[in-house]
Amino acid sequence: SRKLLMIPGPIEFEPSVLRAMGEATTSHVAPNFIETFGNCLDLIQNVWQSPNGQPFLIAGSGTLAMDMAISNLIEKGENALVISTGYFGERFKDILTTYGANVTVLTAAIGDVVSLNDIETELKNKDYKLVTMTHVDTSTGVLVDPKPVAALAKKYNALSILDGVCSVAGEEIQQDNWGIDIVFTGSQKAIGVPPGLALLVASPKAMETWKNRKTPVQSYYSDWKNWLPIMKAYQNRKPSYFGTPAVNLIRALEVSLELINKQGITNRTNVHKKYAKAFQKAIVAIGLELVPNSTEITANTLSAIYYPREIDGNEFRKQVGELGVIIAGGLHAEIKATYFRVGHMGSINAADITTTLSAIEYGLSKVGYTFKLGSSLATFQKELLA
Ligand code: PMP
Repeated sequence: SRKLLMIPGPIEFEPSVLRAMGEATTSHVAPNFIETFGNCLDLIQNVWQSPNGQPFLIAGSGTLAMDMAISNLIEKGENALVISTGYFGERFKDILTTYGANVTVLTAAIGDVVSLNDIETELKNKDYKLVTMTHVDTSTGVLVDPKPVAALAKKYNALSILDGVCSVAGEEIQQDNWGIDIVFTGSQKAIGVPPGLALLVASPKAMETWKNRKTPVQSYYSDWKNWLPIMKAYQNRKPSYFGTPAVNLIRALEVSLELINKQGITNRTNVHKKYAKAFQKAIVAIGLELVPNSTEITANTLSAIYYPREIDGNEFRKQVGELGVIIAGGLHAEIKATYFRVGHMGSINAADITTTLSAIEYGLSKVGYTFKLGSSLATFQKELLA
């Protein structure tokens, strides 16, 4: 039967986006598709707030966007600094290591961020080619402020790379104003399109760095040498070919980006903030604890929540599912069995959150956790009325 998908990606998609997936597949050089692809690239620049950036749109998951950022910018033996706030920081380290970088990882305590002081101390220590950060680490629900980190990277002549897979179109990002060299995401999160597209925007400085490489890019599929002419062609509404684009997904992306554009990116991130804060207060009202240490570093796209100590987490999630709501288990290896995750991004609305809170209360009751039934819902409603 029909279930509400409240995991941190894939998410619930707008019916018009799903309908677009079902339109007839056209040639990748058909005039209508050239216009669709070009329009997507223009709209990506809007959403990223990066009119000067070079957009890339290719078939693959979010990890391909990570791979593309790293493989095009790093050369063997260069230093890279990873600011890790969870599982996806570790993935940066793995990719960088694969391409021969000397990697230093600054790992935050679970639920915390790395201090700007520690980042600056490390940047003074060595000559770093690039700094990576995860805007929202989906394993901890921790939100990093990318602006001061990007400014520090610039001060020490390093490129800044932002993993925005769990944040683009859900958290505020001004790529050009904040001076971030790379921002990327995957389609299945706040961008609101089924899985399968990697989206990335590179600053002029990042493109310059790539052009001035001393050694060839060590990946065939990710190499900008293959993709830059394709992106430029679509931006200029001209036919081209390197690898067949995901025609139906790109048409669905156009529909979703048009919706985002119509709503306005600032309105959209404000809606995420409003529902996230109200949901998180509602969760705290029934005695549960969030993984992030403070509200300033708590994401607006998902919530990572500790189970009450005495309950069976797997049984709890199963019971929530019985009521028709799918939530996610833990992902961070060190605390995996102790917490669950709820995604609230994209076309999130009050009805979906109300249903989710109701299912969480039901699940908690079923596994023997005692609290005042209805109190999370009451808190959520009070927050909306405030
Ligand atoms: N980075 C972050 C922050 C993510 O949340 C994810 C996906 N959960 C990824 C990278 C990897 O994306 P994908 O699963 O689409 O490869």
